[in-house]
Amino acid sequence: MEDLLLDSRTGPQFKLSDEQEMLVRMTRDFVADNIIPVAAEYDEAAKFPEEIFHKARELGIVNMLVPEAYGGVGATAFEEALVSEELGYGCTGISSSLGVNSLAVLPILIAGNDEQKAYWLGQRVTEMGHFVSYGVTEADAGSNVAGIQTRAERRGSSYLINGSKTFITNASHADFFTIFAKTDPDAGHRGMTCFIVDRESPGLSIGKKFDKLGQRASDTAEIVFENVEVPEENIVGEVGQGFYIAMKVFDHSRPGVAAAAVGLQRRALDECVKFAAEREAFGVPIYQHQAVGHKIADMAINYEAARLLTWQAAWQVDQGIFNPRVPAIAKAFAADMATKAAVDAVQVFGGYGYMKEFPVEKLLRDVKIFQIYEGTSEIQRNIIVRELFRGA
Ligand SMILES: Cc1cc2nc3c(=O)[nH]c(=O)nc-3n(C[C@H](O)[C@H](O)[C@H](O)COP(=O)(O)OP(=O)(O)OC[C@H]3O[C@@H](n4cnc5c(N)ncnc54)[C@H](O)[C@@H]3O)c2cc1C
Repeated sequence: MEDLLLDSRTGPQFKLSDEQEMLVRMTRDFVADNIIPVAAEYDEAAKFPEEIFHKARELGIVNMLVPEAYGGVGATAFEEALVSEELGYGCTGISSSLGVNSLAVLPILIAGNDEQKAYWLGQRVTEMGHFVSYGVTEADAGSNVAGIQTRAERRGSSYLINGSKTFITNASHADFFTIFAKTDPDAGHRGMTCFIVDRESPGLSIGKKFDKLGQRASDTAEIVFENVEVPEENIVGEVGQGFYIAMKVFDHSRPGVAAAAVGLQRRALDECVKFAAEREAFGVPIYQHQAVGHKIADMAINYEAARLLTWQAAWQVDQGIFNPRVPAIAKAFAADMATKAAVDAVQVFGGYGYMKEFPVEKLLRDVKIFQIYEGTSEIQRNIIVRELFRGA
C-alpha cells in the first residue's frame, strides 16, 4: 500500500510552482469571463461550445498534452489536471467538450509513430484546430470493452471498417476519430486494433445525436461505419494491440476526468458557503444549524481529499508509473464525492436548489455522468479489487 502514502520527499508537492499558479490563475480568469456567464444558456440550448474551444486553444488550455515538437504546449498530466479542475468549476458540460481532444489523441501519443504524430497532432490538431473524438463504446459493449463488434477487415493495403459506435463525445463535430475495431474477432481482447479515421472517409456518417440529462453543452452522438476504407498507415501501434492501448489511455485520462469532478465539487462548496451565510431560517443564517454546517464541512473534507488523490494519480502518470489502481481510486472517489456534493448542495439550498435560477440544480444534472463515463464507478472498483488481489 506504500504507493498510496504521500511521501514528502518523493510524493506530490503541496506547493504549486510559480508557472503552475499562473496557469491556474489564467484559467480561472478565462472561466470567469468566458464560461460561467454563458453556462446556463449553453446548457438550456444544448449548444456546442465551439467558440469557447477556439479561445481556450489560443490560450493553450486545450490539447495540452501535445508535445512542443508538434506545436503543442507539452504540459504534464498534473498541469492538465489543474486546468481541468478550473474548467469543471465553470461548467462540466463545456469542460467535457474542451477536454475530449486530449482523450482522443492519447492513443497517438502513447503508441503512434512519428509520421502520425507530425500529421494528426502537428497539422490537424495544433495548426488546423481540429476536433477529435474517441470511439470505443458500442450499443452492446460499454463496460465490456473487449466485447466490441465493429469489424476491420484487411483488403490489400487498407482495412474496411463496418459497425457503429455510440455515446461518442463531440462526434458530430469531430474532424477525425481514434476508433477501436476487431481485426481478429476470434482472438478476444487480443483481436482489437486502434485506427485513425478521417471524418471525410466515404461510408462514415454521424447517427443519432442524444438529448441528455446533464452536461448538455457537450455533444454525444453515434458514428456509423459502412465499408469505410482506412489505409494501413492509420493503424495506431500494432495490429492486435488495441485493447492494451485503450487500457493505457484510461490510466492517463482518468486523473483529468477526476479533476473535472473535483472542480464541480469546489463549485458546489462555494455556492453553499455563499448561500448558507445569507439565507436565514429561525432567525439565524442556516450554516449555524449544525445539520447544514456539517453537510458543508463534509463537502470541504471530500473536496480536499478528492483533489489530493487526483493530484497523486496525475503525478503518477508524469512519473511514468503505470499502476491502474491509483487512477481508478481517484476517479471513483472524485465521482462519488462530487455526486454527494451536488445532492447535498441542492439540499442546502432547499426549494431554491430545485430551481433553474440557482446554479446547483445544473450541478446535480451534470454530475451524474462522472459515475458512468471513462469506466463506471463499479468498473473502477473491479479494477481496484483486481489490483489488490493480484496473485491471490
Ligand atoms: C455523455 C456520455 C459521453 C460518453 N463519451 C464517450 C466517448 O467519448 N467515447 C466512448 O468510447 N464512450 C463514451 N461514453 C460511453 C461510456 O464510457 C459508457 O456508457 C460506460 O463505459 C458504460 O457502458 P454502458 O453504457 O454500455 O453500460 P453497461 O456496461 O451496460 O453497464 C450498465 C451497468 O452495469 C454495470 N456493470 C457492467 N459490467 C459490470 C461488471 N463487470 N461489474 C459490475 N458492474 C457492471 C455498470 O457499472 C452499469 O452500472 C459516453 C457515455 C455518455 C453517457
